[in-house]
Amino acid sequence: MTNRRMFLKSGIAGATLLGFSIEKAQAEARNLKISRTTETRSTCPYCSVSCGVIIHTEGDKARNAKPIVVHVEGDPDHPINQGSLCPKGITLKDNIVNERRLTKVMYRAPGAAEFVEKDWDFAIDRIAHLVKDTRDRTLREKDDKGRTINALTSLAVIGGCTDNNENNYLMVKAFRAGLDVVPIEQQARL
Ligand code: SF4
Repeated sequence: MTNRRMFLKSGIAGATLLGFSIEKAQAEARNLKISRTTETRSTCPYCSVSCGVIIHTEGDKARNAKPIVVHVEGDPDHPINQGSLCPKGITLKDNIVNERRLTKVMYRAPGAAEFVEKDWDFAIDRIAHLVKDTRDRTLREKDDKGRTINALTSLAVIGGCTDNNENNYLMVKAFRAGLDVVPIEQQARL
């Protein structure tokens, strides 16, 4: 008995045997998908391999038009992955376009049961306040022998795999030189 998959397969084989090449049609279909998109080069955020990706966005850049990501693929000009993506990286579009993706600040106050929506100014003020409070309470200025160390180990800073050298330079400047934070780590191999 012929099932749907077998039928489709035989159709493709038949077309090839009869001298029809479907490769051109397949390539055309792929082209149509991205023929009117804007390309943005970026880095896969999932792991430290840091593969290069091209993000295809649809939208005519009109003031009221919201751009939509329609396709993400490996960047053939990128020296790390040369166009390939692993099975996780190839799903990147579903990470970007996902109704469960958090795009606003949600805050749960100490002791509260529910999260409430806040604006970004609230988040920045709150983080700054907590960082200063933690540093004021826990900075170790001297070691046991009275030597100056200025070490803050109660805070840690973690970067991601899309952070490049320049980001990481600024991160060390701000957090180690500026706030005396000792634990600083990131996984980028850019
Ligand atoms: S595509 Fe795969 S290997 Fe490359 S950075 Fe993303 S998760 Fe890592």
